[in-house]
Amino acid sequence: MSVQAIAERVRAGGRVSDREALELYADAPTALLGRLADTIRARKHPDGIVTYIIDRNVNYTNVCVARCAFCAFYRPVGAADGYVLGFDELFRKIDETIEVGGVQLLLQGGHNPDLPLAWYEDLFRAVKTRYPDVKLHALSPPELLHLSRLSRLPVAAVVERLVAAGLDSVPGGGAEILVDRVRRLLNCESKATADEWLSVMRTAHEAGLRTTATMMYGSVERPDERVEHLCRLRALQDETGGFTAFITWSYQPPNTELGGAEATGIEYLRTLALSRIVLDNVDNVQASWVTQGGKVGQLSLAFGANDMGSVMIEENVVRAAGAAYCMDEVEIVRNIEDAGFVPRRRNMVYDLLGAPLYRERAIPRRLALDVARAPGDDAVPAELAQYPARSRVGKNARARRT
Ligand code: SF4
Repeated sequence: MSVQAIAERVRAGGRVSDREALELYADAPTALLGRLADTIRARKHPDGIVTYIIDRNVNYTNVCVARCAFCAFYRPVGAADGYVLGFDELFRKIDETIEVGGVQLLLQGGHNPDLPLAWYEDLFRAVKTRYPDVKLHALSPPELLHLSRLSRLPVAAVVERLVAAGLDSVPGGGAEILVDRVRRLLNCESKATADEWLSVMRTAHEAGLRTTATMMYGSVERPDERVEHLCRLRALQDETGGFTAFITWSYQPPNTELGGAEATGIEYLRTLALSRIVLDNVDNVQASWVTQGGKVGQLSLAFGANDMGSVMIEENVVRAAGAAYCMDEVEIVRNIEDAGFVPRRRNMVYDLLGAPLYRERAIPRRLALDVARAPGDDAVPAELAQYPARSRVGKNARARRT
């Protein structure tokens, strides 16, 4: 089928096959891809509203046994600069988040063998006791799988226990590209195969949790594998309807084992537009301005995105790979309005929470992103001594403290 014929079908509201998606991706002019994605965005969001959420992205530990080749964030067990945040540190971060109008904590971290399931349950309960209104958007599928393996419990049982402790929703991290050939090359097949990632999401959806879905492109995958990734997400969404939103970002090569070059802004916009076209059953598509910068983030609103993601207060993962852009609420709103849209705050399930908060009350401006830990701070939280460690290094460290 010609590109024009496929475009006509998309305009009429039809679904594209994987072959047609690949044809569009390879041959359609960038402006056409953008117009098609924008048509779908306008059909799904005719009110011209562009949303964002005020939350905080906290990485509770950087210690990880998975060792993905694309990751500049993790530290091996026993590394001098490996950390686990204490409950008190997390409470302070939540206090700061609430101060700027935040409604949620996005909590993700490394696969730390010395943090058992009970640590997560206790943390979630402590957060919910102190902050009953703060939502916990926590633990991507590979982290849930890691906890399932560590505790020798089925994923469904882990999810059930975490929900009982306060888990509200699951972020879609760790998907990278849902093709095992790619996952082997990225050394992330053992943390979760493509089927395992999808299966954890299915389990979460069946437990009543809403989740997001993601794609990290631009490492070692081929264009047809990006399309396969999107089609697999679309198939699961047909089955469960559990994804609230899709987010794609480009692989960030600096400081990684894999190395290489970063995809360009045009490739980002083409990939974003293709995602909007293929994922016809996902309502919301986010702009990834943290990796692409505010300008490309703003352009994303003409290439299918209807959401500016999070007003970031803290970011550690992208920063470890060299750069992370920062925009506070004032700056995000300026970008949305300048692009001709109406800014609205939202929560994780896309309920509208209201107009920009800073117009209603004075909130502190945040012009630089925080980090999980100040450099050189190697404090070990006191409560860790209560939990059994799995690694030899962790067992020795805890034996010394007791
Ligand atoms: S991407 Fe996540 S799982 Fe992979 S090494 Fe980094 S922290 Fe660990």
